[in-house]
Amino acid sequence: VFENVTRAPDIPVYAVMVAYREDPSPVKLNLGIGVYRTEEGKPLLLDAVRKAEELLVNDLSANKEYLPITGMIEFNKLSANLIFGADSSAIKENRVTTVQCLSGSGSLRIGAEFLAKHYHQRTVYMSQPTYANHPNFFVAAGITVKTYRYYDPTTSGLDFQGMLEDLGAASSGAIVLLQACGHNPTGVDPSLEQWEQLRKLMRLKGLLPFFDCAYQGFVSASLDADAQSVHMFVADGGECLAALSYSKIMGLYAERVGALSIVCKTADVASRAESQLKLIIRPMYSNPPIHGASIVTAILKDREMYGEWISELKAMADRVTSMRQQLYNALHDRGTPGDWSHITKQVGMFSLTGLSAEQVEFLTKEYHIYMSSDGCVSGANQFHLICLPLYYAKPSVT
Ligand code: PMP
Repeated sequence: VFENVTRAPDIPVYAVMVAYREDPSPVKLNLGIGVYRTEEGKPLLLDAVRKAEELLVNDLSANKEYLPITGMIEFNKLSANLIFGADSSAIKENRVTTVQCLSGSGSLRIGAEFLAKHYHQRTVYMSQPTYANHPNFFVAAGITVKTYRYYDPTTSGLDFQGMLEDLGAASSGAIVLLQACGHNPTGVDPSLEQWEQLRKLMRLKGLLPFFDCAYQGFVSASLDADAQSVHMFVADGGECLAALSYSKIMGLYAERVGALSIVCKTADVASRAESQLKLIIRPMYSNPPIHGASIVTAILKDREMYGEWISELKAMADRVTSMRQQLYNALHDRGTPGDWSHITKQVGMFSLTGLSAEQVEFLTKEYHIYMSSDGCVSGANQFHLICLPLYYAKPSVT
């Protein structure tokens, strides 16, 4: 009965991973996947997470019974505080509904489904380029995906004018997907002044902001500073959605822990929205897993573990910044052709290096260095090491 099933194309980031895995070279590097690695290239389990897990193992009252459809109540509360700030008026006025979802991906997918069912506009605008999976969450929900200009390859920075023009021309009420900080894949974020201009324009046009918050704390190592974009949109009393992921910021990739929040105009609307979210979640996976959310909750509510997490998060963020500097220095000191200042100007885990598909292919073939063909590297993953063959390869990126 399945004879007519056609083979689906490989998903690019996984294709890079497979090619890397199958490469027999003892000296190889995969910069294509957005996970943090230690200086030795090993995965990092945070001490705060280890401690939280020890506590959970020794907690005799712990159980593995089903969570409610919307997840752990305490986790949801703490997650809302994290992204909106504990003193957010929207939280105090109970205008926010927050539900535990399967990490950032699940939060985006549930959010898209909610919008498809309960919002009058079925068009979402997202940055060009954006995280490769972003369009899929919305297309799967039946929402039309359009793009707004974002990255200017001539400056390797933000095309703010283009962004304003495209959002200004967007159909009224359209959904706009924004990355709160540490934009994937460009490493380019708007300044606070630019966020304020975007906010004014979007509110004027009634565009609905949907924030993807996968890197809070990874840019400035301050959770509040990295959520300023979201805070600005919430402070004006308007609606927005936010998808929070703990994959990167707590290194909980495989636990699939995150939260979707919908900020509404009134507490009554928020409570109705939550009732509809339950109807969406129930036939998809019934209720979310408990372990990751228990780890996050244990860390966020305990002063000591929270402090430890923040310092580990800062260490990761600082190391990414230092890798950027090392890469820039190596390129500069060796007189590599081209302007590489964008490497240190860009922020967060990712960088669009400016390498062409041919140059990426050359690095892979000659030096066993793997990355996506658009030249995007995950800075959390020893990306300073690409400078070594770059010296010999002398790419002419001008
Ligand atoms: N949003 C962005 C911007 C991402 O980079 C990623 C993962 N790379 C995600 C969402 C989804 O990750 P997760 O589902 O693990 O939260």
